[in-house]
Amino acid sequence: MKNMFVSDCYNVNEKGHLTISGCDTVELAEKYGTALYVMSEDEIRSVCRRYKSSFERHYNGNGTALYASKAFCCKEICRIVTEEGLDLDVVSGGELYTALAAGVDAKHIHFHGNNKTMQELCYALESGVGDIVVDNLNELHRIEKLSAEKGVVTSISMRIKPGIDAHTHEFIRTGQIDSKFGFALENGEAFEAVKEAVACENVELIGLHCHIGSQIFDKAPFVLAAQVMLKFYNKIHTELGKTLTHLNLGGGLKYKEADAAVPYEDYMSDVSEAVHAACKEYGIQVPYIYIEPGRSIVCEAGLTLYTVGDIKTIPNVRTYVAIDGGMYENPRYALYQSDYTCLIANKVNEPADFTATIAGKCCESGDLIQENTLIQKPEVGDILAVLSTGAYNYSMASNYNRNTRPPVVMVRGGESRVIIKGETYEDLVRNDV
Ligand code: PLP
Repeated sequence: MKNMFVSDCYNVNEKGHLTISGCDTVELAEKYGTALYVMSEDEIRSVCRRYKSSFERHYNGNGTALYASKAFCCKEICRIVTEEGLDLDVVSGGELYTALAAGVDAKHIHFHGNNKTMQELCYALESGVGDIVVDNLNELHRIEKLSAEKGVVTSISMRIKPGIDAHTHEFIRTGQIDSKFGFALENGEAFEAVKEAVACENVELIGLHCHIGSQIFDKAPFVLAAQVMLKFYNKIHTELGKTLTHLNLGGGLKYKEADAAVPYEDYMSDVSEAVHAACKEYGIQVPYIYIEPGRSIVCEAGLTLYTVGDIKTIPNVRTYVAIDGGMYENPRYALYQSDYTCLIANKVNEPADFTATIAGKCCESGDLIQENTLIQKPEVGDILAVLSTGAYNYSMASNYNRNTRPPVVMVRGGESRVIIKGETYEDLVRNDV
């Protein structure tokens, strides 16, 4: 039975209930109510450790994974991943604030984003973040001016579009030329921008950054991206006489699909081989390597629990199973038709032979979590679990229809604790005037 799960943190107990990190999900639903996000700390720490040991093995420790906090951001996750030795990628003043509030050393925070506001840039500078990843020339000019005014030299990297089509969902491809992110390589824009950055007096260009997309279940595009980026890295060295020190190869690895795991090791070793080969060819030192995984650190570690409230069978059409959540706490099916494994948590050992469309409670026909998916025969009051919701669920949640965001519970070794409280109706009107 265990093999049906994509993560080792899931199991089934003697009652036939789904468990996560040794906690019975039906009991969690009773204790904390539904809808409920549950995250496994064991799984998150284990993934972080695997990335960490891969960097030791493949780069002699000359590199670090940055956790892309957009995948799931709160104080506790910032504490956990940095305790495990990862750095943090933040893309907004709010993510930066959260990381600092969690006690993360600013030097280990890297500030991204394609249109950082003046307020965010000032905040990043004043906080002393490790580097700012510059997306465009206006931003470069703003950072140069702000740094001059403050009498500081700011470390920056530059976001490059390496022109790689990563064959993923159109909305989340970012490496190709038609993207709002970064400087394009193929038309010379990136090189011109680097020249400007090198000439700036109050910024220090330390490295390059790329991110070719998300949910990439294939090592080849990452290898190609590393080769393209190192060629450009070397061009800056040979043509501008500027030696950079850092190369950030982005995130986007989808490391598990159904039962098939893409071992980190394969990804890490193939990319590092490409990095070392290119550096050898160009006769340059291997840069300090960053990667920026978000999803692969938290996705499988999370699940969402719901109570089945209604079952509506439309003869010859379909059966809707309505849950006490929906697109306001998981908008990803509505946005990208994301695939999820759904199951009835209190009947995991029963055959999953009932075709259901899981519908949320928002006033939108498109408010679905999954269509025509096979689950155990549902009854009103059952606990429905949706697996692999640890990434881009809580962080993309809203208050649509003035629904309250559910709490997030962290589980570890059979123990559970709330890490984000559920919102109340008072929270909903807190900023109303
Ligand atoms: N880095 C950047 C710049 C991103 O835009 C993203 C995702 O959008 C990530 C890292 C993390 O990607 P993933 O969660 O797919 O690993």
